[in-house]
Amino acid sequence: MTRSIGAITLAAPCCGARYAYPNYTSMNFTAWAYWTDGWRDGSLMPNDESLRRCTCGQFYLLMDMQTIEKGAAADNEDLPFTMTVPDEQLPECFTTTVSAQVEVAARLGYWRSLNHDYRRAYVEHRDAEEAATRAAWIANNPDRRTWWDHLLRRPAPRYSRPEGSPFTYPPYEPTPEQLANMERLCELVQPSGPAPHRNMLELAELCREQGRFGEARAVLQSMEPKDLDITGRLIARLIEEKERAPMRYQM
Ligand SMILES: [Zn+2]
Repeated sequence: MTRSIGAITLAAPCCGARYAYPNYTSMNFTAWAYWTDGWRDGSLMPNDESLRRCTCGQFYLLMDMQTIEKGAAADNEDLPFTMTVPDEQLPECFTTTVSAQVEVAARLGYWRSLNHDYRRAYVEHRDAEEAATRAAWIANNPDRRTWWDHLLRRPAPRYSRPEGSPFTYPPYEPTPEQLANMERLCELVQPSGPAPHRNMLELAELCREQGRFGEARAVLQSMEPKDLDITGRLIARLIEEKERAPMRYQM
């Protein structure tokens, strides 16, 4: 469960403007479904990279804010909460670069937002294929219960997805804009780049979605095996299949 008690007063790094921020005591990162690019469906926590915009127009990261006052009794009732950045403002953020870290946060958000069209096509395709699988199963397993069976309350045949049922998804065809964004992100977050990233899985995924499978594999091979959880193993499998599409999965 995500809980917070009161709010913390924070000052923006650009002009010192003050904001309130929920004083989280616990955070819940579970979601209905996860995607290999880091997007979460139905998450209680925001999907952003802690990128915020100040009333003065500047972009900044939550971690660069200065804590002024903390605790349930902090006097910040009149202060606005920090403002998340709408997807359509993200390109503005990486053309007026404050720092490599801010650019990375904006480009990661943009990467995921540009994948939303594919997500919609994927979900539609998957839903249709699963519906067809189910319809075929129902046709092959008709409810043949007699009056007597009903009287005895014998249950109807219950659908379970047959093993080996088709699992296909639409081709992933990133636009030149998507490719340029992913390419720039790779330059920024690689270990020798200006903003080496804490999450190497995202670097592996960025390489994979561009079709740079050899580099994607090398990134995974450079990681500690313990950091390769479900997501890492899925990305590894997709690299082996030379598959570029973002993929939905359950934890
Ligand atoms: Zn400011």
